[in-house]
Amino acid sequence: MRRKLAAGNWKMNGLSGALEELKILSASPAPEETDILVCPPSTLLSRAADLTKRSDVAVGGQDCHPNPSGAHTGDVSAQMLADAGASAVIIGHSERRQDHNEIDKQIQEKARAAVDAGLIAIVCVGESLSEREAGDTLDVIGKQLSGSIPDGVTGETLVVAYEPIWAIGTGKVPTIAQIHEVHDFVRGQLLSRFGLEVGEGVRLLYGGSVKPNNATDIFAVANVDGALVGGASLKAADFRGIIDALGAA
Ligand code: PEP
Repeated sequence: MRRKLAAGNWKMNGLSGALEELKILSASPAPEETDILVCPPSTLLSRAADLTKRSDVAVGGQDCHPNPSGAHTGDVSAQMLADAGASAVIIGHSERRQDHNEIDKQIQEKARAAVDAGLIAIVCVGESLSEREAGDTLDVIGKQLSGSIPDGVTGETLVVAYEPIWAIGTGKVPTIAQIHEVHDFVRGQLLSRFGLEVGEGVRLLYGGSVKPNNATDIFAVANVDGALVGGASLKAADFRGIIDALGAA
C-alpha cells in the first residue's frame, strides 16, 4: 500500500514572510497515510526545516547539482539540501528543462546524487502541447522515464511526477481519461523496468493546475498517489484543501 503524497513547489516565490504560511500549514496534522512536503526556495530551506521540525510537514529542495561539492557557482548539492533539513528534492521540473536546457542524462545524474545523499528524488516528466497534439505523449514520457530515472531506485527513494507542460500554471487540466492513460503507462514502464516490488512501490504524482476544487476528481484516478502543486501550495488554506481531498481519496 503506497502512502499518499501532497508536495508543494513554491518555485522562485517566498521571502521570509512566506514562512507564516508554513507555520499555519504545519499547525494541523496530516491525514492518515498521507505525507506532506513543501519545497520552498533554497534561501528559506533551513528556516523552513526548523519551523516544521515537530510537525507532519517535511521540506525539500527544487533542484540539485549532480556533484556533492566543487566549483559550481550558484548551484546547490543534494548533500547541502539534506544538511539544511530536506528529505526530498524535485528533479527535472519542466521549468528547469526549459530555463536551463536540462536533458534527461543530467536529470538522471541529479536523481542519482539525490538518492545517494539520502533524499527522495521526485523526477518530473511531461509533454508539451505540441507533443500532445501530435499524438506523441506516451512516446515522450517513455523516453523521459528511461532517460531520467537512474538504476537502483526503490519505492522509498523515487517519486515520479507527471506534469503536462501545458497544464502548469495555466488553469488547464487534462481530462480524467488523459491523466489515467499516462499514469497507467508510467506504472507499466516502472513495472517492466524495475519489477513488481519497486514498480508498485513508486508513488506517482499528477501536477498541473491542481486546486482544491479539482483535486477530488484527480485523486480518484487509479495510480494517482498525490499531487505536485505549484501556485496552490503558496497559501496554506489552498494547500490544506488539496491535502484534505487527498486524505479522503
Ligand atoms: C508545478 O510547477 O509543478 C505546478 C504543477 O504548478 P501549478 O500547480 O501552479 O500548475
